[in-house]
Amino acid sequence: MDYNATTPCRKEVVEAMLPYFEHDFGNPSSDHAHGWMAKDAIEEATTTIANTLHIPENDIIYTSGATEGINMVLKGLAFETNGKKRHMIVTSNAHKAVLDCCGYLEEKGFDITYLPVDSQGLVSLTELEAALRSDTLLVSILYANNETGMLQPLSKIGELVHANNSLLFSDATQALGKVSLTPVFEHSDFACFSAHKVYGPKGIGWVYCKPNENGKALPGFIHGGGQQKGQRGGTLNTPLIVGMAKAIFLAQENLEKETKRISALRDFLEEGLLQIDQAISNSTGTHRLPNTLNVSFPFVDGSKLLTALGLKVAVSNGSACKATSVAPSHVLTSMGIPSGLAMASIRCSLGLSTTSEEVKQTLDIITTAVERQRADNILWEQRYSKTEQT
Ligand code: PLP
Repeated sequence: MDYNATTPCRKEVVEAMLPYFEHDFGNPSSDHAHGWMAKDAIEEATTTIANTLHIPENDIIYTSGATEGINMVLKGLAFETNGKKRHMIVTSNAHKAVLDCCGYLEEKGFDITYLPVDSQGLVSLTELEAALRSDTLLVSILYANNETGMLQPLSKIGELVHANNSLLFSDATQALGKVSLTPVFEHSDFACFSAHKVYGPKGIGWVYCKPNENGKALPGFIHGGGQQKGQRGGTLNTPLIVGMAKAIFLAQENLEKETKRISALRDFLEEGLLQIDQAISNSTGTHRLPNTLNVSFPFVDGSKLLTALGLKVAVSNGSACKATSVAPSHVLTSMGIPSGLAMASIRCSLGLSTTSEEVKQTLDIITTAVERQRADNILWEQRYSKTEQT
């Protein structure tokens, strides 16, 4: 129930990668038969990704994953402006990879606006319009929220951002293989993706990047070797790229059927969890990922609940564990959910191998754990006494 954290590699993906680890191991930059074979494999993989997602091959830059892509876009663009445009806007519910990059850029003198979101986690277009400035270089949007699954209205956001001559970056890491990416490619200048969220290998991802008139839109950030038109130096990882292409192809091929199957399972689980007394959904709205749900249970200690569930079912609550404390999820608190309730929340993210039997078991396990937690909580016992007295 934690497939938004990561997914296993599909068997077909492992099989596609294997030859490139041992036998066809050449460096794709080498000018001999071994290198040509590796280069061909990468070109074929790039064609597969481009054709599957209906984007030009040139718009794909390989990275080690979404975090690297985010760093390349945010820091790469920021450093290239030579101080001309020193402002960025980022949604307050962004992934930590984006928020930490922005923190670093602030230390270097950039101005960052953390845009609030509403109770559904959606960006207010009026607030975005008000936050845009003549020196706004980039707006960074989390297209598909990893904790709630909510999808942002990219077309309207893109209109505002481009009318201001700013660039739009979409963190679409969680959208790949789960929903159509057409809005991302239509409205964003940059987007990032990661293979391990879509049944591909860890340590590989890519940046989507609309080229400018020089054919090169992303400033070089990782220097060395001149690979990928100097936009990201370093030897390309043939097996992982081949595996990622296979994973993307398989996910897209099955997208419609899997969306129906998984959303039916998710809805069943969500409806069941919401039957628990006072349970509250944190991912309401129809425009959301088909596999994700997020529910809070008042009068429950979130960390105790996770520990109780730990050995039985893998769920997440998005809280950030620091050295000495556990902080509530910034995604939920940014939606106005009080810290205590945010701590007592659970994200379930279903995957390819999730069965209806597993969903039923999960429902039973969580229901029992919540009831046990509450049985030990004096406040739960007293919850109606105030109302009864009045
Ligand atoms: N952005 C989002 C929305 C994510 O969910 C993740 C992964 O958890 C990342 C970025 C980082 O991805 P990676 O593990 O490929 O660096």
